[in-house]
Amino acid sequence: MNNAEYKIYIDEVIRRVEHARLQVSQHHIVKIVAVSKYSSTHEIKELYQIGQRAFGENKVQDLRAKSLELDELPLEWHFIGNLQKNKINNLLDSNPTLFQALDSLELAQEIQKKLEARNMILDALLQINSAKEESKHGFMPEIAKEMYEQIQNECPNINLKGVMSIGAYSEDKEIIKKSFQTTHAIYTQLKGATICSMGMSGDFELAIECGSNMVRLGSIMFNK
Ligand SMILES: *Cc1c(COP(=O)(O)O)cnc(C)c1O
Repeated sequence: MNNAEYKIYIDEVIRRVEHARLQVSQHHIVKIVAVSKYSSTHEIKELYQIGQRAFGENKVQDLRAKSLELDELPLEWHFIGNLQKNKINNLLDSNPTLFQALDSLELAQEIQKKLEARNMILDALLQINSAKEESKHGFMPEIAKEMYEQIQNECPNINLKGVMSIGAYSEDKEIIKKSFQTTHAIYTQLKGATICSMGMSGDFELAIECGSNMVRLGSIMFNK
């Protein structure tokens, strides 16, 4: 695909996001984070050139390397992967725009210590394991609100802005929908929360219809 063809292709993805968000309301704005974890800096640049600004990575070292290499571009970098405690400092070195995968109280407490030492604030989302899957990280829905508030109280250098969740791993649309509704219901109970990050290449329209206002699109944005 050349640049012009790629732009037409992306316009179609944006049209689908538009269509889904208008099902909710004219005022429902959805942000696209392009997940670049399987893509090169060259491919990120191509997408930047047709207007994309927010990118997401799931490995600390990849976020570091790509953000450094593309340092001259005005990009936002989101960290969407599981963060190991021994990588916290490496992540903070990259000063990400948003850490979307805060998935345990212990991790929050460790991050808080490092942030305090650096006199730094980190914007973050609480990850919710909405379908209670073994294979997934995140807080169980029943305790998510309580944990959100506890982190707000105990970790003043973490600025919680909302929630993130991955849709249920299922062929059944109703089961996926239910997982998004679970996350959205929690989101609406959180005071001051502004971001509900749900939806990937295979399920973003459903996620938006369930109230997502941030989609994390990997394969579809890079045409993979
Ligand atoms: C990889 C990934 C995505 C993007 O997945 P696609 O199916 O390629 O759109 C979104 N969110 C998270 C947390 C991911 O790890």
